[in-house]
Amino acid sequence: MNAPTPSSVFAGAISRLDKAFQYADIDAEALERLKHPKQILQVSVPVRMDDGSLRVFTGYRVRHDDTRGPTKGGLRYSPHVDIEEVKALAFWMTFKCAVMNIPYGGAKGGICVNAKELSRLELERLSRGFVEQIADFIGPETDIPAPDMYTNAMIMGWMMDEYSKIHRQRTPAVITGKPIPLGGSQGRDEATGRGAYYCIKELAKKRDWEPSQIRVAVQGFGNAGQSIARLLHAEGYQVVAVSDSRGGIYKAEGFDVPSLIQIKNQSRRLQAVYCSGSVCETVQAKAITNEQLLELDVDVLIPAALEEVITAENAHAIKANVIVEVANGPITCEADEILHEKEILIVPDILANAGGVTVSYFEWVQNLQGFYWSLDEVQHRLSEMMCREFDHIYNWMVEKKIDMRTAAYAVALSRIGEAIASLGTAR
Ligand code: GLU
Repeated sequence: MNAPTPSSVFAGAISRLDKAFQYADIDAEALERLKHPKQILQVSVPVRMDDGSLRVFTGYRVRHDDTRGPTKGGLRYSPHVDIEEVKALAFWMTFKCAVMNIPYGGAKGGICVNAKELSRLELERLSRGFVEQIADFIGPETDIPAPDMYTNAMIMGWMMDEYSKIHRQRTPAVITGKPIPLGGSQGRDEATGRGAYYCIKELAKKRDWEPSQIRVAVQGFGNAGQSIARLLHAEGYQVVAVSDSRGGIYKAEGFDVPSLIQIKNQSRRLQAVYCSGSVCETVQAKAITNEQLLELDVDVLIPAALEEVITAENAHAIKANVIVEVANGPITCEADEILHEKEILIVPDILANAGGVTVSYFEWVQNLQGFYWSLDEVQHRLSEMMCREFDHIYNWMVEKKIDMRTAAYAVALSRIGEAIASLGTAR
């Protein structure tokens, strides 16, 4: 998959605001404020590599807006990380938290690194070194990081430990997505996929879907892609295509998703799954590219990988009736217009992938209270919140005759606008 054009990502992200403004209850000055991130931090992290050499990595943390509460958002390790991307991701977090009505603003961070090339010890030194650099910028009441692309619970555990050492106080609430023995929440690992699954369940009610008749393609088979594919398959949906960064596989009758996940996690690579002799007998499938996956004749398309994979170039070729954005920002503004013309319903990222940050919020609440919930309780609360906000935005869309993304931004803008108005814009 190609990485998005860096400079366009943030500009594209904020351009969504102008369209939503006319439907939102917010004044123009407050809107202007939201087009500028509150704080940007860039750091250099020197790391002693296993071979004795020294490498210096560049990292970022951007706090977009904190009117509704401490800023919240993940940390991404990827060679594509740059400041424009992190600004856009932080911006989306502000709106995601407002859409879910959780008491947070938005932030995001990342390190420009190919994490796959680092040993476990190098990764630990990099993660602890990064926290050393940002230790005064983050905190349980100011800015709370979490996992994102190519980061995981183990990394969050190291970071929480490093922060606690620096501040000489155990501080589990400074970071979410931790391992469960270190204060992580039940259900956080699959929360992004599960949140999207609840959105699809709500939509299925509205459209009278019979799951066994619905064909789904999932681009990206990481944490979120695997969870949504697994949950939909268990509900009876036909998951006919999946892909990872190296390519995808297609099977008209649908895959047995649990065995795909097992094989993927053994081989770490879907194309290998398809090509290697032994598993070919288990997975009879056709190899497809990531681009082909997007254009398949399916009912539901789920981009769950990178930003800007659906553009003005390929939007005309999309055949799905519904797109559920599990990735952040997978559709460009130009593509949005084309898809809207084609009457394709887009369940926007700031709603569809908000399950992750919602369970992060639950984790933070549990850490602050020192009282931990069961998996049932986490899932029950997540389902209640996702279904409520999905319905709220869906009804707005129908009532105002606008697309679902504009409805989501309008709802979020009104909530942020209300908070800004209570404080005064010149704060
Ligand atoms: N990285 C996730 C996102 O993009 C989760 C953020 C969080 O849990 O704070 O929504």
